[in-house]
Amino acid sequence: HASERFDMTALLRSAVTWVARAQMPDLTVVFDLPEALEIAGHPGHLHQVAMNLVQNAIDAMAGAPSKRLELHGREEDGRIVVTIRDSGHGIPDAILGRIFDPFFTTKPVGKGTGLGLSISYQLVHDHGGALTAVNHPGGGALFTLILPAAGCRQ
Ligand code: ADP
Ligand code: MG
Repeated sequence: HASERFDMTALLRSAVTWVARAQMPDLTVVFDLPEALEIAGHPGHLHQVAMNLVQNAIDAMAGAPSKRLELHGREEDGRIVVTIRDSGHGIPDAILGRIFDPFFTTKPVGKGTGLGLSISYQLVHDHGGALTAVNHPGGGALFTLILPAAGCRQ
């Protein structure tokens, strides 16, 4: 596929709409995104990444007392930095080093394949970007997605 310019803000909003709204009507979503975040790449691939991250957040918040998804985005030094934070159970420290491994899952058979994060990691790295995960000190998981801004791709 050819690389094209597109708006990451619109892509993130679309991923949340498609994945989160129907599954979790009581979800609060906070969008802290610029009007537009222009990047160059494969929109279908990055939409897949965003949907994987949002689906994982939804899964982690099932049964949580507060269901809150926060997306922040900014452009900084020729890079697009997007963070996605949920109010779910977080990632146990013991597995934090394995979540990007192919087929690693803590979900029951039929619910998770363990491929979402490994594929996402690969797709992001194919764009010259990075994908990392931590637990937020205030609870929940925080994923950071870094991509070269449009025009800054090597
Ligand atoms: P799957 O969703 O099929 O289990 P993934 O590769 O998407 O596979 O994720 C791997 C594992 O990482 C999950 O099973 C879960 O244990 C953990 N994980 C991913 N995202 C989150 C999150 N937002 N909160 C807590 N744990 C997460
Ligand atoms: Mg997943």
